[in-house]
Amino acid sequence: MHLPSHWLHSLIICLETLGKLASTVMRPVAERDIRASFINCSKGETKRLNPPRELADLPWADLDFLGWRDPGAPERAYLVAEHDGSLAGIALRVTSGAARGFTSRSMCSLCLTTHTNGGVALMTARRTGEAGRQGNTVGHYLCADLACSLYVRGRKEAPGGGPIDESLTVDEKAARVRANVAAFLAKVTGAST
Ligand SMILES: [Zn+2]
Repeated sequence: MHLPSHWLHSLIICLETLGKLASTVMRPVAERDIRASFINCSKGETKRLNPPRELADLPWADLDFLGWRDPGAPERAYLVAEHDGSLAGIALRVTSGAARGFTSRSMCSLCLTTHTNGGVALMTARRTGEAGRQGNTVGHYLCADLACSLYVRGRKEAPGGGPIDESLTVDEKAARVRANVAAFLAKVTGAST
């Protein structure tokens, strides 16, 4: 069959767009892939961490990254994302809730959702390599449940808080979450400071 060249061109553009869309959210990953992805902790720590419960049932198509609090150790949290073509996971230490007063609000630095009453927490990641061995960390205020992807898509609401007033579309907000996660990972690996 002979297709006119402009059809073929349109088809290529369409496939390229599909490819880009497919790479925008998380592909479902297995527990072994999660454990193998960690870049800032020891093999022993990686072995001991508790993966998210009911991994297969997560809303993967709505996740810009996989983030969770360790069900067995609440002061530990994890973030796994696709970074530079492969899966990168970082272990985080939850050092404090950002909001002390009941009415004070804090904002997540990844998704810019505001929360009250401890809905945002300061989380620090040990940097990789020599910087990490010297005790250097990178800290960010993040949604305490790491459900940023669901907040920006309106699938989860922040009681007393919510999205900031801006005119971005959901796709644009999701893209910003992914860009912020990439910047966070780059700081952890020392690719940017
Ligand atoms: Zn967030």
